[in-house]
Amino acid sequence: RSGLMAGKRGIVMGVANDHSIAWGIAKALGSEGAELAFTYQGAALGKRVKPLAESLGSRLVFPCDVEDVETVDAAFAAVKQEWGGIDFLVHGIAYSDRTELKGRYADTTRANFIKTMVISAFSFTEVSKRAAALMPKGGSLLTLTFGGSSRVTPNYNVMGVAKSALEASVRYLAADLGPDAIRVNAISAGPIRTLAGAGISDARFMFNYTKAHSPLRRTVTIDDVGGSALYLLSDLSSGVTGEIHFVDAGYNFIGMPRSENLQS
Ligand code: NAD
Repeated sequence: RSGLMAGKRGIVMGVANDHSIAWGIAKALGSEGAELAFTYQGAALGKRVKPLAESLGSRLVFPCDVEDVETVDAAFAAVKQEWGGIDFLVHGIAYSDRTELKGRYADTTRANFIKTMVISAFSFTEVSKRAAALMPKGGSLLTLTFGGSSRVTPNYNVMGVAKSALEASVRYLAADLGPDAIRVNAISAGPIRTLAGAGISDARFMFNYTKAHSPLRRTVTIDDVGGSALYLLSDLSSGVTGEIHFVDAGYNFIGMPRSENLQS
């Protein structure tokens, strides 16, 4: 294999189908020569993920539901047995009950708050610790977040609170793991039509509003995210850690849309 990622091995968590952001990242990594292992949630998704993995030359595909720590341990044990160590990890996992991805944040229930936080925020900390144990020579960890972490976005609700916790985790993990030459970063992607994205009420409005008001006047694709992920997961970003990197066509820094945009 040749390319930017030649000789590097890593785990991609969170591919559900070929629209998943994690899949966009996997394609970019594969095209630059990385060797990949995949994890999936539940047998139904496994059937989808296996052929995708095979198309990138990977036969390492393991079940892992982050709500069940035994499956997390089993997946990392399987990777350790195959490879001994890894160089990078991609975490593209989030969940919240869709009945709470609409209406008011104030109405969030205790049960869904906990579930959302465990799957969408804590799981990154949990897998980072296990990945770090497989990175004796250092490495790069990457998760995915959304600007609703710091700016109120209608219907994003408890997921925004979880993304805020996830982004803080990126900084704390970067500080803890930095002495071991392990870098920890996040990509904050603009809205993309995926399974998870479709769970947010009125996702179409979010999509169209961002498209109309972002400087590039478009939304981003999983390949846009893949390109930026390649930088963060490769040695090109060797001096970068604890960073929340926006891949959102510039939407994040717009304070107010131009008046003519209101007509569209
Ligand atoms: P997706 O539905 O393709 O991926 C979400 C993944 O999370 C799925 O593979 C699902 O199986 C996995 N998952 C959920 N619960 C799990 C559990 N208990 N254990 C293991 N895996 C579990 O959607 P996506 O949009 O590609 O989401 C990937 C990441 O990108 C998420 O963190 C999401 O919040 C983030 N993100 C998405 C957008 C967007 O607009 N789509 C924008 C910014 C950030």
